[in-house]
Amino acid sequence: MPVCTSCHQTKQDEAFFHKNKKWKTCQSCIEQRALKKQKTKRKRDDEAVEEEPLRVSLKTVGLMDLAALVSAEMRALINNPPPTAPDGTQICSLNLRVALNLSNAITGNEHPKDVARWIVEEIERADEYNWTYNCMNTSMRHKDVAKFYYVCSQSVVAMKEYKEGSNRKRMERFPCQGKMQMKIDMPAAEAMLEIHHGLLHNRPISNSDISDECRKEIEENTHLNPIQLRQLLRSKGIMKNYTPRQIHSYWERFAINKHPELYRQFSVIPVTTPNIPGITSASTPTQDRNSSTAFTILPTMPYGATSLQTSIVNNPSPQNPMQKGVVDQIPKLGNHSFNHDEFVEYVAKMEQFAKRVRNQLDRRNYLWLDTVKILTAGVIEMENDIEELERQRASERATKPWTIHYK
Ligand SMILES: [Zn+2]
Ligand SMILES: [Zn+2]
Repeated sequence: MPVCTSCHQTKQDEAFFHKNKKWKTCQSCIEQRALKKQKTKRKRDDEAVEEEPLRVSLKTVGLMDLAALVSAEMRALINNPPPTAPDGTQICSLNLRVALNLSNAITGNEHPKDVARWIVEEIERADEYNWTYNCMNTSMRHKDVAKFYYVCSQSVVAMKEYKEGSNRKRMERFPCQGKMQMKIDMPAAEAMLEIHHGLLHNRPISNSDISDECRKEIEENTHLNPIQLRQLLRSKGIMKNYTPRQIHSYWERFAINKHPELYRQFSVIPVTTPNIPGITSASTPTQDRNSSTAFTILPTMPYGATSLQTSIVNNPSPQNPMQKGVVDQIPKLGNHSFNHDEFVEYVAKMEQFAKRVRNQLDRRNYLWLDTVKILTAGVIEMENDIEELERQRASERATKPWTIHYK
């Protein structure tokens, strides 16, 4: 009796006939697959319709013109703001799609990660925000193509709970949903960039002044472009955590006389953002929502799931008698040693998070889900790849190297 290449079940010959033809896959698998395909297509069609009003026109610029573009877009938005909300708040939401031409900026020997940093810092030089790197995702199919994800460091979703008495300065937070993604294609010398900043809020308070050593280096290198200058300072270990804007402002003071042509090329007009009160207190954004009218347009929906948390805290799983043996057992693979328990904890967290996501879907907390979707885009893409490979394996075309990555 034949074995189905998809479900691996041994079935009667009749089970492999579909539309008067004999197949390697059983009939129920063929039907299931067709149904799934239909569902995905319908879902894709729905999404296409849904995204239509959000479509932002695509702009094409060279990397060295990016800062000027971002600055111009922000100024246009702030000088000509959208209609005022009923409570008097003006919401300036920046949405940008940019096709970046990298051909004049890269040699081809750079790692996509370096290029991602150049791009982010050029944006920061213009918008004066701080974009926190979130994750990257390298294409399994194309070498030197990678996606990078960032969030606005002041967005409430980027908020981390600092320990009590932490001397790290509390940052002003906003429900800005600030996120950015870029796909860098090195062979094509091109990057696709998408910026969404739902609220142009106050900037982070600038940190320390530039050191004398750093100042001297800038004064002596006014002939460099902003990317080259930051690279030089970084290679000398004097870039510290100065913002691209700080470095650039200091450079401008000297470049204006020494290299007026470079000054004109790289200078961006500073943008003043509307003063919108943020969240700096120790209270959670949910509590603040009720007391501050500024957030009624972009609410941070209650992020609940407390019952889930308490049930986990109150009912610790019974100690598994097998666990002790597992602790000592550290399997080796190549030069790395892995601790099984670490992964037990990790997988449990993933499962807990999946429940949380489902819970928020039931509550229709789309705002929260949308951010999570961006943050986990790399995981979803990987899952899609694995699904694709599984389909290939099912039709007996799986390639061997893949089994190393995923069993
Ligand atoms: Zn089957
Ligand atoms: Zn923000």
